[in-house]
Parts: sequence; C-alpha cells; structure tokens
Amino acid sequence: MNTYFRIAIPTPLRRHFDYLVPINFHAKSSLPGVRIKVPFGRQTLIGILLEVVHETDVPAQKLKPIIEVLDEQPVFDRELLQLLRWCSLYYHHPIGEVMQNALPVKLRQGAATHIKGIRRWQLTSEGKQVDTQDLKRAAKQIALINDLKQSPSGLLDSQLTEQHIGWRPVMKRLQEKGWVKSFEENALPVAKPISSAPTLNADQQHAIDHIVNQFDTGFHAYVLEGVTGSGKTEVYLQVIERVIQQGKQALVLVPEIGLTPQLLDRFLQRLSGRIAIMHSGLNDEERLQAWLHTKAGSADVIIGTRSAVFSPLLRPGIIIVDEEHDLSFKQQDGFRYSARDLAVKRARDLNIPIILGSATPSLETLLNASQGRYETLLLPERAGNAKPPAIHLLDVRSQKMEHGLSAQLLHKMKEHLERDAQVLLFLNRRGFAPVLMCHECGWHALCPRCDAHMTLHQSNSSLRCHHCGTEQYQPKTCPKCKSDDLLQMGFGTERIEHALTELFPQYQVIRIDRDSTRRKGSMEKLLKEINNGKRQILIGTQMLAKGHHFPNVTLVGMLNADHGLYSSDFRASERMGQLILQVAGRAGREEKEGEVLIQTHHADHPLFKPLLEHDYPGFAKALIEERQQTELPPFTHLALLRAEAVEQQQPIIFLEQARLILESAKQDVMLMGPFPALMERRAGRYRAQLLIQANSRKQLQSLFSLSITQIENHKTAKKVRWSIDIDPLDLL
Ligand code: ADP
Ligand code: ZN
Ligand code: ZN
Repeated sequence: MNTYFRIAIPTPLRRHFDYLVPINFHAKSSLPGVRIKVPFGRQTLIGILLEVVHETDVPAQKLKPIIEVLDEQPVFDRELLQLLRWCSLYYHHPIGEVMQNALPVKLRQGAATHIKGIRRWQLTSEGKQVDTQDLKRAAKQIALINDLKQSPSGLLDSQLTEQHIGWRPVMKRLQEKGWVKSFEENALPVAKPISSAPTLNADQQHAIDHIVNQFDTGFHAYVLEGVTGSGKTEVYLQVIERVIQQGKQALVLVPEIGLTPQLLDRFLQRLSGRIAIMHSGLNDEERLQAWLHTKAGSADVIIGTRSAVFSPLLRPGIIIVDEEHDLSFKQQDGFRYSARDLAVKRARDLNIPIILGSATPSLETLLNASQGRYETLLLPERAGNAKPPAIHLLDVRSQKMEHGLSAQLLHKMKEHLERDAQVLLFLNRRGFAPVLMCHECGWHALCPRCDAHMTLHQSNSSLRCHHCGTEQYQPKTCPKCKSDDLLQMGFGTERIEHALTELFPQYQVIRIDRDSTRRKGSMEKLLKEINNGKRQILIGTQMLAKGHHFPNVTLVGMLNADHGLYSSDFRASERMGQLILQVAGRAGREEKEGEVLIQTHHADHPLFKPLLEHDYPGFAKALIEERQQTELPPFTHLALLRAEAVEQQQPIIFLEQARLILESAKQDVMLMGPFPALMERRAGRYRAQLLIQANSRKQLQSLFSLSITQIENHKTAKKVRWSIDIDPLDLL
C-alpha cells in the first residue's frame, strides 16, 4: 500500500499538495499537525501535515518526496487543525496561508518548539548588605540595587529594560563584584494578587454567579452588556479566578489598542495564575515563548489581540472577548477572519462558555441575543460611586469657531480646568491640516498614488498620505502658479494641540495619536504623564477613546461627530454611536461628575436622541429595524470580491468574469457590481469590487464552493490582485 502525506503549504493556491514519504520512514509516527519541510518548485517551504493518505490524483512522475519532518508532537492539535480547516472553507482562503497565519513567525521559519528559560536577577546575600551611600558616584548601580531590593523574587530582563536604560553593563559590574546573581526558570512567573477585589454590586454578583453556576453545562454564549465603567473587567477577573481554580485556561481577547499597560497591570495585580501575553509589541521570540507556554498548559491566562484566537489551549476553560464590537477583531487583509466570530465558533467546538463584553455590542451580537442564541447579562450602572456623565450637543451652526473649537466648548473647558480637573478632546484625524490648497488658482495637494488629499504635518514640514504613506516636503509656494498664498484647511490633532497651547498657556497639553506614540514605550510614558496630573488638556484620536481609565477627566469634548451621519458606509451610524458612548465613557469615572459635549452641525438628527440619554439599546433598536427594512446585515449576509491592478480596466474585467462564473452557479444570491471602489486608486493601483448578498451564510458558502476554483483559474485573475472577504466590515 502506498502512503502519501497530504500537506497544507503556504501558497496563494486554494488546495493541498500530496508528497511521497521516503522509504523506511515511519509514516505512522507522523501525526496530522506536524510541520514538514518540502520542495516546492525551486523553493523549500514548511507546510503542515493534514492527513496521511493512501491514494492520490497526482501522477506518479510528478510526486516528490518530503525533505524532513520537523516535529515529533503536532504544533496544531486536532481541535485547532479542524478549526483551521473550517476557516479555509468558510473564508475561502488558501489552507496553507490559513495555517501559516495561525503560527508564530519563528515556527513558520522552522524554529524548534523549545521553551526557553526566563532569566531573573537577584541580589546575593552580599549584595543585600551593600550600603548604597558608599556608591555615591554610581547612580545607575544604586538605582539597580534599590530596585532589586524591592523585588525579592527577582527581576526579569524585560522588566529591567523597561525601567533602566542600558542596564546590562551596569549589571555586569554588579555581578563582578559578587552582589547579584541570575538564574533561569522554565516556567512563567506565577502572579500573586497584590490588590483585592472591590465589594461587588448586585448586578456584577449576579453576572458572575450566573456564569460560574453554568460552568459545567458546556457551551454557553453570554453578552455582558455593561455601560462604560460598570465593572465588566471586574466580572472577567472573578470569573477567570474561578476558571483557574478549576485548573483550566482562560483566553482573553482584547482590541488592538485595548491592550494598554493599565489593563495588563490590572490583570497582573489581581489574578493568581501564570499569565501569557500575546500582542504585536512582542518580538518574535517573546511571541513564540508565550505561544509555547499556552500550548504546554503552563499559562493559565492568555491575553492577546486578534490572532490570539488561534492560541493552542491544553485545558480550555473559557473565552472572553472584551469590547466585542471593536473593528480590530476583523483582519483587514490577507486571511480576513473575524476573531470575535471565530471565538464563538471555537467555544462551541470546545464546549466551553464564552463572554462577549461591551458597553455597545455590535448589531450582529444584539440580534443573536434577541433570537435566544446568546444570553444577555446587564450591568446598567456605573460601579462604585461614579455616575454617568451628562451628554449635550453643541449646535455649532453659524457659531463663531476658534481653531475648530466653539466658544461654548472653550468656556466649559476653562470651567473644568479651573476646578483642577482634566479635559479630554477627541478628534479622529491626525496631522495638522487635512487639505493644503492654493488661494490663487485652487490647486490641492493630492497624493500622486491615491485618489486622496495629502495631510499637512507641521512637526516635520511634510505632506503625508494617510492611505499609502507617501511623504513629500511641504511646498512653500504653489507648484502650479507659484503663489505663496497657500491655505491650510481643516483641523487635525496636531493643529488643535498648537491652538490649545496658545489658548490655555497656563496648562499643559498632551497629544495622543499614532504620530505621538510611534516609539516603543511612548504610549506608557504619555499615559503616566496624564495620570500623575502633569498634563491637564488631552487631545487625541481613537487611541484615547477606548479602555483607558483617567480618574481626573471630567469634561470630554468631541470636536466633530457628524461624519457618521451621512457616510456611504451603512455601518457608519452604528460606529458613530459606539464611538460617542466610548468616548463619553472616559468622563467622570470616579467621584467627580463628568460632562460630555459634542460639536455638531446636525443637532436635530434623530439618531443623537437616545445617545444623549445613554440609551444604547434604544439607539441600536432603531438601527436594527432600519437594517431589517433595508435587508442589510445582520439580516442578510455579504461577501465582497475585491480586485486591484495598475491598469485601470483590469479589475473590472476580472470581476465581470467572476460575476459570470458566480451567476452560472445558479444560487439564490444577489450580485451587485462590479463598481470602482470609492477611493478608486490607492498606492498606485486601481481598485474595484463585486458585492454578493445572500439570505443565509449557507448560500454564500455553496456559491463560492461551486465557483472559487473557476474564478481562481480564470485567465483574467492573473492580471490582478484579488481577494475574497466573507462578512466584510469595510465596504469602501
Ligand atoms: P468597565 O470594564 O465596565 O469599563 P471597569 O471594570 O474598568 O469597568 O470598572 C471601572 C472602575 O470601577 C474601575 O476603577 C474599577 O476598579 C471600579 N470598580 C469595578 N467594580 C467596582 C465595585 N463593585 N465597587 C467599586 N468600584 C468598582
Ligand atoms: Zn496656485
Ligand atoms: Zn497615497
């Protein structure tokens, strides 16, 4: 009997590949899920063994032998392997890329699955005796010794790097003097709770009891719908504590910018287990180690962003998705999965509970709850003594504005600042001015590669395209007519920061956006300056809107909320409401009462009304009804076929062919397009799309199962870059 390895190989081809197993090779001992090195064309690639089979369609002369099996134990266990195969079918993405995506980079490259020791530094008994007075001139040595004195269980390299710049040579000197020693451990440090739980309120207690009491009943999806500051995190913490006590693992997914040092500290200070963290800030080795600990079961809690949904779990106990409505759970390129949706699927497969937490759940989740698939647990009030902030609209129509700030807002800011409170302003646009225009001839600074304006960044006198990253010098005169009368139009965070510094010279302004936090560790530094009161006025984008706890902020101003009201994206109003309540959630989180002011040109728009009353359910209900009437998600299901090419016609030509193929599959779906994308040209490529709408996921599924290979093999497909997006969140 012949034996072949069926392997998932990281290529854009939607299929698996069969290989010969060398003679004398114990094929039986190779389990599905191990990594295998194979020849592929002229390259050597690393794939994942899917199955050992005894028949193949590949002609004998084309079959090649594998090169090497890299693992004794599979890197993906059965459950993960099955999940990933399901993903490939559901998202119609090549199986090899799906598998690759779920592996830490180092394992993709062939690294060994070896857990490394973690080094810690401690004072020796001699070191403990050292009188730092005698070291007057060695400030760095003193600082290290003092810090080590505070940490009898030792400090990790990573902790030292955070606190002491250039600590390594200093430590070496201390080691030479015999004052410090290092040792390595193979285990993650066990967190010991250092702060205690607050007394729970009745709603929190009910939510926790309810979840814990049903632990043994297997899969159960809870929507923890709690207004901002209602203590959802507290509920997670206590539920996780019980999961750890049962000897199981908790997987916690948080949005990309939600994984703040503040949140981490809270978990570290309160939980009594071993915590692994997975996010984009880690280097490849750190990521690999966190992954290995998770797989080995030597991590009790795994906290991570989107891709952590693929964490290997040895003793799965619960999955928690915090801020489940957040867009960052959707991968927006390559393998476009929704980590939130997959988390629910995974919990079901694993037969464990899942909590979807949010102050502003997505309409998808709300519909699932109202149809009885998920169970809702409400936290309707803020925890402790904090009260919800009053939200008011500032009708700025025909008002005099100073740098985008209305007189009323400036007046209120003054009031709050004089009471020694902090003020937070929110504007979802970074840079100085979004448009640079010539007053003489009307020239606009446009990106040479995109259908978009260049944003003026004053800090380094540049024009930058926020879509493709193209950067140019800021022109002094109009490139067209040489006039020097160039208008800087509109406002970005950088410009507001300048204006505030002039308007409020006696206060310190701080700006938080992608530009000001680019350097590693800078976000932490800025947050520290906010929380120790050094800065009184905060201006920022999305990054400042979510998850943070600023106890002294009592006034929040939204400089422009109107974008969501009249966008061509049908989800824009849902997002606007979520954003307003999230931003509002930053105000008055402790005893001091908070206030939120929203500048708008559409103060009488009906969608604002429920938001002003913190009535997210009412707001969502209106949107859900509208979606039902207009037959949009979550009542129907979408897929988007995207294509792009340097030649303008190619994407449309390809999508027209794709449309014909899809039509011939004769499924009951609606096809719309192809249309050019709203921003047709981006990064030098023309883009177009074809939208497919169906009444059920099944219909979409069978449509593409019937046609994807034909689309992939069509000759026009070779002239474009194309992709398929199932359940797209971004239609533009
Ligand atoms: P959410 O995650 O819903 O925004 P958090 O869990 O961050 O809310 O809680 C908001 C604040 O209230 C935090 O400072 C938290 O420590 C505090 N808190 C939570 N529960 C209680 C409680 N029962 N009593 C007092 N304070 C609480
Ligand atoms: Zn000009
Ligand atoms: Zn561009």
